Amino acid sequence: MDLYEYQGKQYFARYGIPISKGGVADTVDEAVAQADASGYPVVIKAQVKVGGRGKAGGVKLADNAEEARFHAGNILGLDIKGHVVKRLWVEHASDIAKEYYASFTLDRSAKKHLGMLSAEGGVEIEEVAVTNPDAIALLHIDPVDGLTLEAAREWVAAANLDEVAREQAAELLVKLYTCYTEGDCDLAEINPLILTPEDRVHALDAKVTLDANAAYRHPEWAEFEDSEGEDERETRAKERGLNYIGLDGTVGIIANGAGLAMSTLDVVNQCGGSAANFLDIGGGANADVMAAALEVINSDPKVKSIFVNIFGGITRVDEVANGVLEALKRVDISSPIVLRLDGTNAEAGRAILADHLSDRLVAEPTMLDAARTAVALAGGQS
Ligand code: GDP
Ligand code: MN
Repeated sequence: MDLYEYQGKQYFARYGIPISKGGVADTVDEAVAQADASGYPVVIKAQVKVGGRGKAGGVKLADNAEEARFHAGNILGLDIKGHVVKRLWVEHASDIAKEYYASFTLDRSAKKHLGMLSAEGGVEIEEVAVTNPDAIALLHIDPVDGLTLEAAREWVAAANLDEVAREQAAELLVKLYTCYTEGDCDLAEINPLILTPEDRVHALDAKVTLDANAAYRHPEWAEFEDSEGEDERETRAKERGLNYIGLDGTVGIIANGAGLAMSTLDVVNQCGGSAANFLDIGGGANADVMAAALEVINSDPKVKSIFVNIFGGITRVDEVANGVLEALKRVDISSPIVLRLDGTNAEAGRAILADHLSDRLVAEPTMLDAARTAVALAGGQS
């Protein structure tokens, strides 16, 4: 789950990371009031979940209320890479002596956390990585050891941060690491991390991605829930406890188990089709779950056929078959459904379905056959 800058800054603040005084505004009048409260000069910033807002005209400085009104009016409603600005963050503007870059993320191949620190911040770090890779000091951190202040001090020196900034930056990095680990982030990035002419180090931007799998231990994350910018179906699926990810194709997929769901995507591709989604209904394939899954997929206008691929293990196929029939009574499905049901009690399951099969509800003996049929029903090879 990505956070808006203002949410990321509030998250940082919980861990003692210094940020500028500011607040959000949803209207021009609110923006001016917030600017008055923050103290001029202020910076007015578009809140959209996409980078490069500065270049797109979404970050403006204002010296007085009149300028604040002008910029807030221009930025609200602005389209930044397909994201329309509905909310602003207004904060007291900082004087900038230096712009640095700092982030923590997971390096899966190294099985360690990866810190990236550069004295050349402000610009996109991908650009620095290409033009001047030596300017980024990488630090792999063993999650068991964590990041000590000692290690952070060596790191800020290795990254060539200005002498006056080093001690504050090292302390800030330890806090950012704590935020990243204890706060269960997939990414915690500050760009720019600035040094002011008064020799203060603090965060001017915040890019935070929370690890959705850790949501159960963070009830406070509820305030960050934001269906906007998220696939509407993904939101609805999440509400029903389904593991759904929207894709671009035309064959809707329902499978039990993440592994089988991924294999199903592969086999649909292999048959020349393309999946409209990933959907793992997990162990419980009862009528409620099946109805919810069919409903979510049915609401996707791209879907032309639905491939239900269930391998009964603990889940019994006869129960799944009853679940499918019950679900069909509740949901009016606009696409033909292709079933491949195998595993525990498969024969009993097929017998239950036998009388209900039609050109709208097709059963196939194997996964490959079912994929071929589903792709054909979706209009053939894409
Ligand atoms: P991004 O473009 O989406 O990454 O948005 P940022 O929050 O990083 O802002 C873009 C740029 O605006 C920064 O790199 C700064 O150069 C500038 N900027 C942001 N806040 C301030 C501020 O308080 N004072 C000054 N002088 N510049 C700022
Ligand atoms: Mn930035």
